[in-house]
Amino acid sequence: MRSNQIRKSGAPKREAAVIGSGPNGLAAAIVLARQGIRVRVYEAAPVAGGGVRSAELTLPGFLHDTCSAVYPLGVCSPCFEQFPLKEHGVTWIQPDAPLAHPLDDGTAVILEQSVERTAGQLGEDADAWRRLFAPLASFWPTLRHEILRPIGLPRHPWAMSQFGLPAIASARGVAERRFRGTRARALFAGIAAHSVLPLEERLSAGIALVLSLAAMTTGWPILQGGAQSLAAALTAYLESLGGEVVTGTPVETLPDAPLVMCDVGPRQLLKLGGSRFPASFRQALAGFRYGPGVFKLDWALDTPIPWRARECYRAATVHLGGTLEEIAAWERRHTGKPFVLLVQPTLFDSTRAPEGKHTAWAYCHVPNGSTKDMTDAIEDQIERFAPGFRSRILGRHVLSPAALEQHNPNLVGGDVGGGRNGLPQSIFRPTWRRYGTPLEGVYLCSSSTPPGGGVHGMCGYHAARQALRSL
Ligand SMILES: Cc1cc2nc3c(=O)[nH]c(=O)nc-3n(C[C@H](O)[C@H](O)[C@H](O)COP(=O)(O)OP(=O)(O)OC[C@H]3O[C@@H](n4cnc5c(N)ncnc54)[C@H](O)[C@@H]3O)c2cc1C
Repeated sequence: MRSNQIRKSGAPKREAAVIGSGPNGLAAAIVLARQGIRVRVYEAAPVAGGGVRSAELTLPGFLHDTCSAVYPLGVCSPCFEQFPLKEHGVTWIQPDAPLAHPLDDGTAVILEQSVERTAGQLGEDADAWRRLFAPLASFWPTLRHEILRPIGLPRHPWAMSQFGLPAIASARGVAERRFRGTRARALFAGIAAHSVLPLEERLSAGIALVLSLAAMTTGWPILQGGAQSLAAALTAYLESLGGEVVTGTPVETLPDAPLVMCDVGPRQLLKLGGSRFPASFRQALAGFRYGPGVFKLDWALDTPIPWRARECYRAATVHLGGTLEEIAAWERRHTGKPFVLLVQPTLFDSTRAPEGKHTAWAYCHVPNGSTKDMTDAIEDQIERFAPGFRSRILGRHVLSPAALEQHNPNLVGGDVGGGRNGLPQSIFRPTWRRYGTPLEGVYLCSSSTPPGGGVHGMCGYHAARQALRSL
């Protein structure tokens, strides 16, 4: 799509083009449309949704989440809670427990939707868990607003000071200082690995705190009928406000519209804007750092996964990596056994598979752009905690880092978070301008802006609000 196809000059001022229909693009479009702006979203893929799509990837009748599957930051998002998503078909399903972390002794540590119940299974670390999380959990209703926005002067300084000190530390440091036992350390390490940072690096504890707090308060739900139901609801709401989504339309140059919201990464923005951007901005975009990639597998299964630890049937999300030391080794150098994040949605949502059958979704982090086939290593890790898993497989679908990028150009080298986390990039993301660009009316609104990766719509929400202030 070239710019003159999108808008002839002289069109009405209150008009916006959004490039990309991921959750952030759709959130930005909705925030603008709610202010009476005529919004058109251009999506390269044949289906809207970006990271919130589902498809029959393996066998007919088995519906898989192609990218995101679990929504700790979606269910508590200050953006999504303003939208009538339920009216448009969104049903969050809360599994009995947010997370199970099996260990080699045949038991599993469970992250419960309660600080007290989680602490209750941590033995010698029960009090330390309570001390760390109980005060922060009471702040969660305000803390989530602070965390899901660009880092700046806190509006709730007391809550942020309690959170900020441990958050800025390394996950390994926090785990080893605060907990003595294998179970609490392993649980914390697995959650911290969602930062896609080495667990020895600063800020990795922050992600563990955020996701643990979300789990113990608002939960880690899945979406009934799969991820696609969220994209469908956001699209339907946008259309009810007069907006539209045009799919199968890759945008090649910046559209000539008064407002352009780009749900793309810095590398693509560079291509879209080209020489229209000053050299310093081009240089800043080119210097943006991407994080490790992801190697993902989906399976159609004959039965549920045969877990050795029965507690694993209580959770949709299961972390397979054993101890803190093992998980840290994988996330630091990608050596040893991979740390695997697994989701078993059909235990809680039977609409996604033929009767009695199941699906599973899993990935591990790999070096950015890695071409190594991780299928056997991931399945070996599942077999370790669920002997006989392979014999239940009816169909398998593989997404390598290259295939992920082909599926969605925002996933550079398989990086699913829109860029490396950590300091200083988490503050100046992707440049000191954050959502803004040197071109009037052109904004970036993808997960490469604050507050970063995950399905929450907050990058789009903040970018659109900044754009509205400029009108
Ligand atoms: C395998 C995987 C697993 C994940 N798991 C989870 C999870 O469980 N929970 C969670 O919260 N998050 C998860 N995420 C992360 C989450 O999906 C992303 O952080 C989120 O989707 C980012 O939203 P976005 O709107 O910024 O971009 P995206 O969702 O990436 O959407 C961008 C859209 O823009 C389109 N586009 C790009 N360039 C152009 C162009 N030039 N013209 C037109 N269209 C264009 C793309 O096709 C895409 O549809 C996962 C991601 C992946 C890939």
